[in-house]
Amino acid sequence: MQQQPQQFASDNYAGVCPEACEAMDEANHGHEPAYGGDSWTSRASDAFRNLFDTSCEVFLVFNGTAANSLALASLCQSYHSVICSETAHVETDECGAPEFFSNGSKLLIAPSPNGKLTPEAIRTVALKRTDIHYPKPRVVTITQPTETGELYQLEEIRAISDICRELGLKLHMDGARFANACASLGCTPAEITWKSGVDVLCFGGTKNGMAIGEAVIFFDTRLAEDFDYRCKQAGQLASKMRFLAAPWVRMLESGAWLRYAAHANTCATEFARKVRDLPLVELMFKVEANAVFLKLPSDVAEGLRARGWMFYTFIGGGARFMFAWDAEPERMNALVGDLHDLCLAPATWRT
Ligand SMILES: *Cc1c(COP(=O)(O)O)cnc(C)c1O
Repeated sequence: MQQQPQQFASDNYAGVCPEACEAMDEANHGHEPAYGGDSWTSRASDAFRNLFDTSCEVFLVFNGTAANSLALASLCQSYHSVICSETAHVETDECGAPEFFSNGSKLLIAPSPNGKLTPEAIRTVALKRTDIHYPKPRVVTITQPTETGELYQLEEIRAISDICRELGLKLHMDGARFANACASLGCTPAEITWKSGVDVLCFGGTKNGMAIGEAVIFFDTRLAEDFDYRCKQAGQLASKMRFLAAPWVRMLESGAWLRYAAHANTCATEFARKVRDLPLVELMFKVEANAVFLKLPSDVAEGLRARGWMFYTFIGGGARFMFAWDAEPERMNALVGDLHDLCLAPATWRT
């Protein structure tokens, strides 16, 4: 079959990295106990405990929507609420799954320029109402890196966790691109999670180069009580769990998870550097991970589409370009070239 040229519409357009494929192959020998009783699953849990340098509880699920929804549901009663940013994936892209799996816990949207929550915004939302008629705030969820490709710095996470402690709120992190955050911040996974007060992390494997799989990691292990039942009930307990686990083992033990994320981040940074000064192009957010958002005149956007480029415009109307674990610099440069042509050419084509 003819291979399609690489696109930067989503990091999920990418295929599976060699390490994940090899690990699936290696796990595909003989029989092993089902439902997580296999040796790969315990090795994966140990690899996470090593990586985070703590005795966390680990659960492997199929996708990020389930990871987030079930994690939030485990932190909430149905009368509780979850404070999130207005651009949070849980709010905009999960079809109400957090509310569904929590039997009605309400998401409370905090104003968040650039997709980042601040302690002030959390305080305002959490204290807006304290009466019996309003769902009781129970959890704060932050996305690291954010949906707009920006990072919470260590001190920002700590400030958020301080306010959470003060107000009696749990802190959840949507880390669908957690690897990109670690690669960019250059601090340890422990530092940006439990050492900064994060209670539960959803660690994305799919966007990091795996075929399928996210890990739900409870740093406060008391919160993990009965989470296995919750996964099973939600249809998220893999019977052949070893095939979810083996890629994690290989990705974490080989360091591929961080290497690929760093590569993706570098491509995004390079792309932004090459197009940011073009006339007609405006960078919408800081480029701190693997996403670049460009504000483009509609004729330039159409010109790109006419040349075969695919991209989304669902956040703020800007064109989003995501660089995956396997982003090809040549293909990125081809996109730069087309943007150059469209932005610098005499305006004749535009009229
Ligand atoms: C991709 C993504 C997810 C997970 O989405 P699924 O399609 O359910 O796997 C969760 N949060 C964020 C911020 C994402 O970008």
